[in-house]
Amino acid sequence: MKAVVYAGYGTTPALTEVPDPACPAGGVVIAVGATGVCRSDWHAWKGHDPVVLPHIGGHEFAGVVVTAGPQVTAWHAGDRVTVPFACGCGRCEHCLAGDAQVCPRQTQPGFTGPGSFAELVAVHAADANLVALPADLDFVTTACLGCRFATAFRAVTAHGRVRPGDWLAVHGCGGVGVSAVMIGAALGARVLAVDVSAAALNRARELGAEVAVDANTASAAADAGNAAGAGVARAVAEVTGGGAHVSIDALGSPALAADSVRCLRRRGRHVQVGLLPSGPVPLPMDLVIARELEIYGSHGMAARDYPAMLAMVADGTLRPGLLVGEVIGLGDAGRALAAMDGLTPAGMTVVRLAG
Ligand SMILES: [Zn+2]
Ligand SMILES: [Zn+2]
Repeated sequence: MKAVVYAGYGTTPALTEVPDPACPAGGVVIAVGATGVCRSDWHAWKGHDPVVLPHIGGHEFAGVVVTAGPQVTAWHAGDRVTVPFACGCGRCEHCLAGDAQVCPRQTQPGFTGPGSFAELVAVHAADANLVALPADLDFVTTACLGCRFATAFRAVTAHGRVRPGDWLAVHGCGGVGVSAVMIGAALGARVLAVDVSAAALNRARELGAEVAVDANTASAAADAGNAAGAGVARAVAEVTGGGAHVSIDALGSPALAADSVRCLRRRGRHVQVGLLPSGPVPLPMDLVIARELEIYGSHGMAARDYPAMLAMVADGTLRPGLLVGEVIGLGDAGRALAAMDGLTPAGMTVVRLAG
């Protein structure tokens, strides 16, 4: 098969002929229909998130099952599917409880093994991890469901528990952030988007944000004597009449995580979605106590929880297709990955192989 392979961290990924993946006994091999190019792929390529070299990246994809292993009972060749980026083992206590997203033996195509920048990709524990796609959803639209959109959905619904009329603050309006904006607005929340980029804030408004807060301006407006981040918290408190009910750090930075906690209303909920690979991060725990705030970490979404999201995609309540930017061929995937050395493109770049 053809795949985009890199031999070393940061070396140019090249379209290469490689052996087809073997089908795991409990897994499947999927013909990739479309696969998104995500910043996590870039982190792996740069060596921030070590992988076995040479490596094939790619972890958010949709496609068709071509081979099912002998232990697979629920899936067959021809099934149209997507897969969460964190695939559970299917057997441990967490998987059996439906929480494959925190399985200690999880596999992740594109990280723990070869990924979806390829014509074929193998997935382990298929019965526990595959998600059937409605027939009318195309692969390009559904490619983002495996990572950023599902992650945002779970953060807003399972952890944030937003209700109609709640204020939802989204800090960082990249791929996960604008997904959270769209999902929050679709659920009836009043969405407040925070970013330092005017373009990102405009995009958030287009996708349903009622209010946009420029973090630079808000911080500059704060009194010089205030603690860092007080400007954003004050701006959010003024707009919302006391703070957000739910707030998400969708980017992953110590400053945004702290801003997100500070901007909460009493009894509010902070959800940490953006990764913080550099280690422990200080949070204003004094406020967590005084205001009885709740703090959650969110790590993708298990296959079990996909049907509720897919139903909202199928009936048009959620429109992940609006997040798609450039659609490219497999031969351009390496270039798209390397381009993330610069600014992240406004829309999601999707590699289309079929359908
Ligand atoms: Zn991703
Ligand atoms: Zn497990």
